Amino acid sequence: MEITDMNQCSGCGACVACCPVNAIKFIEDRHRRRTPEIDPERCIECGLCVKTCPINHGGFLSEQESEKCYALRAKDKGKISGCSSGGVATVISGHIIEQGGHVFGCRFNEAAELLFTECSTEEELETIKGSKYVQSNLTRCYPEIRKRLENGEKVLVVGLPCQIAGVKGYLKKEYENLFLVDLICHGVPPAVYLQEHLRKYSKTGFQKIRFRGKDGFVLALSDGSGQEVYAARARRDEYYYGFLQGLIYRENCYRCQYATIKRVSDITIGDFWGLDKSTLKHDYDGPISVGLINTEKGRILFEQIKDSFICEERPLAEAVAGNDQLKSPMRPDEEDRKIFREYYPRLGYDRAFRKTKAYRQTVRKEKLKYSILRTSAGQKLYRLWKKIKG
Ligand SMILES: Cc1cc2nc3c(=O)[nH]c(=O)nc-3n(C[C@H](O)[C@H](O)[C@H](O)COP(=O)(O)OP(=O)(O)OC[C@H]3O[C@@H](n4cnc5c(N)ncnc54)[C@H](O)[C@@H]3O)c2cc1C
Repeated sequence: MEITDMNQCSGCGACVACCPVNAIKFIEDRHRRRTPEIDPERCIECGLCVKTCPINHGGFLSEQESEKCYALRAKDKGKISGCSSGGVATVISGHIIEQGGHVFGCRFNEAAELLFTECSTEEELETIKGSKYVQSNLTRCYPEIRKRLENGEKVLVVGLPCQIAGVKGYLKKEYENLFLVDLICHGVPPAVYLQEHLRKYSKTGFQKIRFRGKDGFVLALSDGSGQEVYAARARRDEYYYGFLQGLIYRENCYRCQYATIKRVSDITIGDFWGLDKSTLKHDYDGPISVGLINTEKGRILFEQIKDSFICEERPLAEAVAGNDQLKSPMRPDEEDRKIFREYYPRLGYDRAFRKTKAYRQTVRKEKLKYSILRTSAGQKLYRLWKKIKG
């Protein structure tokens, strides 16, 4: 039996989770892309996996464009410290928890695996804050999500569009008490790439892995003892730069059906890159998120929390203009993508990435600049150079 067209498979894991005889498991190809495989010995040909797969339902995308578009930043600075953008995910999550509900989001474990987890308290919410630019795994949480909903409890799932579609495929029916928020996404690298890249920095595992902070787009790691062992700006890090340049995603991300203005969730959030800040009426004082209200349920939920945000309504076109992934999937530099794919199976992450132009033209130069500037002679030279340059 074929679950779906595997070229499109996002690895959402809904088919693995729904199989009544556990006949489906994930396998990895030579590029470490995780896809499901059916064990023919166990399979009872019930077809549930085919019915569940969101790809076979056109991704559950909306018929219409989003109703409203807002520029948002949470007012409570304490609450959103550690958030990546305007803290919208955290505010919505806090609201659901206040009402006795449960939030599903993802956090790293010590082995740098990014797993979904359930949060029922404000303290637990702290552990899922922040964008993690790598593929997360929702598979184990699907049954728990259903159980909570069937008990009549409120559930919020915050995830990538393909994961939200996985939730819809798994549940197969509407629940009044289910709220879905998706993140605008330009693609995800297989989790193994990040693990391979980080391995050298800690033998004791990782307590914290952060991609964004007050210092901007920085990959920062704390080891098992909590000590920061590495911090590098995106342009100086092989993994982060590969991610931002779109060179290292799962192959299906380059054909992503969710990279469109038609959305899969109640509320879509992301960074408001296209915002014309000169026309804002308020002082946002920090990163600003875009919030797209896609359904009536999303509208009602948003009305309940609107006052928690510095908030201005904006034209939808502004969000689309600045965020290519609301129009089409990421288009990488094809030559570099080919190089990375050719070398990865033999050389592993870092050495394969170092074969690309992106490494030679940017990351290598930034590393060199950084190592020179770390010495006092280098700093003197830099000051002299700046003086000469005027
Ligand atoms: C892989 C990826 C690609 C992205 N690409 C874009 C883009 O192209 N354009 C854009 O505007 N925005 C993009 N974003 C979204 C953006 O980085 C912020 O996550 C978003 O604006 C939410 O910010 P916040 O402050 O509201 O979230 P926070 O309050 O910081 O909370 C973050 C939430 O995101 C969830 N989350 C974090 N990482 C993942 C992950 N890997 N998988 C599933 N859930 C996750 C957390 O569980 C948490 O619920 C991307 C995010 C990810 C994870």
